[in-house]
Amino acid sequence: MTLVCVPLPVHALDEIPSLLARASRVAERGAEIIEWRIDPLLAESSVDAALHEETLDALAQLIRDCVLPSLVTARSVAEGGQCALAPDDLFALLGEIGSLQFPPRFIDVELAIIERLGRVPCVRSGGASLLYSAHDMQGPPSSLARIYQRMVEDDRCAVAKIAYRARSVRDCHDAFELLALRAKPSILLCMGEEGLATRVLARKFGAFLTFASEGDGLESAPGQPTIDLLKRQYRCSAINRATEVFGVLGFPVAHSQSPAFHNARFAECARDAVYLPLPVRSDWESFKATLTMLLDDVALSFRGASVTIPHKEHLVRFVQERGGEVDTTTAWIGAANTLVVRSDGSLFATNTDLPAACSVLADAFAAPLRGKRIAVFGAGGVARAIAGGLAEEGARVSIINRTHERAAQLAKELSSAGRGVVTAMREDAIACNPTGCERFDCFVNATPVGMTGGPDPDGFILPDSAPLDTDTVVFDTVYAPRETPLLRLARARGARCVDGMTMFTRQAELQSKLWLECR
Ligand code: NAP
Repeated sequence: MTLVCVPLPVHALDEIPSLLARASRVAERGAEIIEWRIDPLLAESSVDAALHEETLDALAQLIRDCVLPSLVTARSVAEGGQCALAPDDLFALLGEIGSLQFPPRFIDVELAIIERLGRVPCVRSGGASLLYSAHDMQGPPSSLARIYQRMVEDDRCAVAKIAYRARSVRDCHDAFELLALRAKPSILLCMGEEGLATRVLARKFGAFLTFASEGDGLESAPGQPTIDLLKRQYRCSAINRATEVFGVLGFPVAHSQSPAFHNARFAECARDAVYLPLPVRSDWESFKATLTMLLDDVALSFRGASVTIPHKEHLVRFVQERGGEVDTTTAWIGAANTLVVRSDGSLFATNTDLPAACSVLADAFAAPLRGKRIAVFGAGGVARAIAGGLAEEGARVSIINRTHERAAQLAKELSSAGRGVVTAMREDAIACNPTGCERFDCFVNATPVGMTGGPDPDGFILPDSAPLDTDTVVFDTVYAPRETPLLRLARARGARCVDGMTMFTRQAELQSKLWLECR
């Protein structure tokens, strides 16, 4: 059983009633233990005797009246907290807290202070147990295994906790390994976005507890998920040793819609699986090393991934180099967004963007795409998949891109295999005199123009004079916002519109089907 622990900071003694109410609310949302972070109270280097007594009385009330068991922590500045008390004074206070009539379940004591003083806080028999902790805010400590060993070998240590910043998803591996070999109740956590897997999968690897914040912006350490995300989206209470792991590899992935979609789908289908955002830096070596780690860690049960910017080409290369299968169309366009790990361990890569885009357009036309004249804006990964897919369906595709040379190169590559005809076109060919320019049945935006937080959120790719009417289909692959400036313009001119969320959902459904079929 892995407990879900919510840290609540204690800033002032008159906050006790409101803190108790907050603890009750997080208990209703699934918290099982509260970490009272008392270091904000101890940010001065000394506490006078009167205040010491007052502090102790208030904390006694907090711990006694809390609906949940307590862990009391006074994190030092050196390890990422605010406690400025001298080590002797801190241990004296922790000893008194741990010896209260109704003591907390645990008090956190930092290994570095224990080793500096050569002793632990003096706690009465039957008082709080000691949770030894060590933190590295920079990265994995080079002596991680030795630090853990020192905690494990000390009989006074009831729970061993080590937290360090993950510089890459690969850094989670050491935490998983130590947990798998644990010799006493242990907590091995990685901080930062790259460390989320250690927090969500704590139960899979038998961690004693995992931390979750009360809400957005209330994290006590970088990368802590909210309790609602941990309990509802990731269903952390259902995770067990056999739970399969999926994820989205890319950069950035923090705002990806895929974890919400796929975790909900796994829940609906009662599949024992969880789907995580897995940020991977843009170079091939990082991608290769991360995916290799995920696949080679047998205990992780990694069964598949969505792959997004900038790794779609890398996935094709990776699967080919490992002797896996890449379907013919995906190999032709050279970009994959889906990895399936079959039950025999073999790999299969495909691109669900392509059939998703073709099918949403066929629905919008209510007709086959053969012979349709389609302008695709952009020459990146999504444009490549859409232009290739449409050409294969027999559409007449023109690629238009800010950097015309990239459009020309892509058109050449896609046409050379003889699977369809793709040309490159300059933007002004659309804005020309309507009598002189070619008519398009459909315009597709495969650039980030119009995307919230993107390079040109208010822009749209079509020139004002572009011919649009009720027979024209306008498809914007951007899905945030759902109604982009391009779709607003197109709707106002009576064109038929397809939004990016429709494509996103369809490509995600195809991924989900592949994973659900492959047990
Ligand atoms: P990418 O590989 O980075 O390519 C981006 C393309 O957009 C390039 O051709 C680039 O032109 C062009 N571009 C970038 N900024 C521009 C600007 N300010 N003005 C004009 N052109 C610009 O990206 P991608 O993977 O193809 O993704 C493109 C978009 O597709 C994403 O932003 C996302 O919104 C959307 N998308 C949607 C779905 C879905 O399921 N609906 C899935 C994935 C992506 P240059 O060649 O000149 O740099």
